[in-house]
Amino acid sequence: MAKPLIATQHLTSCFGCHMSILDIDDRILKLAKMVDFDRSPINDIKEFTWPVDIGIIEGGVSNDEHVEILKDFRKNCKVLIGIGSCAVANSVPSMRNTVPLKECLEEAYLNGPTIVDGGIIPNDEDIPILLDKVYPLHEVVKIDYFLPGCPPSADTIWNALVALLTGKELEFPYELIKYD
Ligand code: SF4
Repeated sequence: MAKPLIATQHLTSCFGCHMSILDIDDRILKLAKMVDFDRSPINDIKEFTWPVDIGIIEGGVSNDEHVEILKDFRKNCKVLIGIGSCAVANSVPSMRNTVPLKECLEEAYLNGPTIVDGGIIPNDEDIPILLDKVYPLHEVVKIDYFLPGCPPSADTIWNALVALLTGKELEFPYELIKYD
């Protein structure tokens, strides 16, 4: 019988949540027996080859390419999980939300202290177009489960995956959902 499929993706993020997935240590061998990975930076597969059972998204939604990726994940994943504070509540990437986009671009490319001899705001058609602000995942598509934390611990991710793969309710002991 075919194993369940998992897909993962990072959007605007530091990749720390993916590091936390890999931080399940030797349980990665158990996971490899339980599932196969489809689209993911872990295996560098960039398009869905099949509809998958569980999609995992890290990071906030910053540009038009992210919107398309997220919609593609929603379309191809039976269950979609947002992991990490950036995906769940915007967190670090949303620091730019307090400044108008035009001002952000001018500071980064025209007026910032590291700009010498003038600068130019990139506008090549191949470059994704920035959104007016950074959005958490659930403001773009329906998200089935949220795993907060920066990043969520490996144990939290492992518990969630095992529960979903074995058809159980997601339940976390207090130690996994306190953040002090
Ligand atoms: Fe990085 Fe934390 Fe955001 Fe995860 S939640 S992508 S670890 S900043």
